[in-house]
Amino acid sequence: MGISLASKSRLASIEGRVPTVTTLCSHSSLQIFHGARAEGLPSLGLTVGPPQRFYEAFPLARPDRFLSVPRVKDLPTVVDRLRSEGSVLIPHGSFVEYLGPEAFAELDVPVFGNRAVLGWESDRRKEREWLESAGVPMPTRYENEEEVDGPVIVKYYGAKGGKGFFLAKNREALKDFHPTGPYVIQRYVLGTRYYMHFFYSPLSDRGYRVGHGSLELLGMDRRDEANIDELYKLGAQEELLKAGIRPTFVVTGNVPVILRESLLPRAFDVAARIIERSIELFGGMVGPFCVEGIMTEDLEFKVFEISTRIVAGTNLFISGSPYSDLIAPGLSTGRRIAQEINRARHEGRLAEILS
Ligand code: ATP
Repeated sequence: MGISLASKSRLASIEGRVPTVTTLCSHSSLQIFHGARAEGLPSLGLTVGPPQRFYEAFPLARPDRFLSVPRVKDLPTVVDRLRSEGSVLIPHGSFVEYLGPEAFAELDVPVFGNRAVLGWESDRRKEREWLESAGVPMPTRYENEEEVDGPVIVKYYGAKGGKGFFLAKNREALKDFHPTGPYVIQRYVLGTRYYMHFFYSPLSDRGYRVGHGSLELLGMDRRDEANIDELYKLGAQEELLKAGIRPTFVVTGNVPVILRESLLPRAFDVAARIIERSIELFGGMVGPFCVEGIMTEDLEFKVFEISTRIVAGTNLFISGSPYSDLIAPGLSTGRRIAQEINRARHEGRLAEILS
């Protein structure tokens, strides 16, 4: 038996019934509902205002029912309704960011995964404490401007999709940075970006064992980030700045990638360390997470961020990926979540995967 994350009272609303896979209609919701349907679980889509019509266009991914609230911040007012529906909330980037990590963590409805992870992920300093103490290589962080000795990226807290980030090629150029919120200064790492979609199952006792469970690699993508990804076509950044154009990392899409097979041991090692340390720090991270990093020309992998839930890049792989095909045909992350819920239910172990 593994670690119990949820109290009996938290799980009372789904006791003895089939849980309803529930999430905010956005981000990766089509995939999540599609996965629930494929595994025979009912689904509920939360919408802000009336449901978007496009769900009608995707019959295999339309949730069974919708529940609408006027504004995202009204979601806490429908907690009783969600409990009566037997909901299990599936966090995704938009759900957590729009509601706010604190408000999300306080919802008295069973959540897939360990909600304690939210406090560790949403604060970049705590996230670094977790990853560094796990022995994960990260880009150098500078405590203040004076320490800067090379190109840097200045980032705000939380999943803002890289909005408002600032690039400076040296300390001098940092003088043009005028913060509008809490931020960190990181070394700008030159290399190729990989966003690796992992899944940790505390229930599984086979495969790549980590802790009491096992680690799976379900896919990998790279993000298209406007307008930084296309800057080279127009020339050097300085010239663009003269024209008043600032590079941004706002995500506009995702492309599938695979890693050189010889680099897979490193990818698994990094993900396993992150899981092992999460077990020591806060009872473990459960389900999907994404390790986001840069492979340098010396084949060093520097992790700049982890997302502790399903990421939108997994939407590429609704019918499987070059990695998940080697586990089971047609296995998406959304479907894997539904499988885990079903397994825990049948084995009486929901407290180990819900919180
Ligand atoms: P999201 O929550 O959508 O993942 P975010 O706001 O948390 O985004 P990051 O993921 O940390 O921001 O970074 C956004 C982008 O900035 C990355 O996808 C990558 O392209 C770039 N980036 C981040 N850190 C570095 C770094 N140290 N060196 C080079 N590029 C970086």
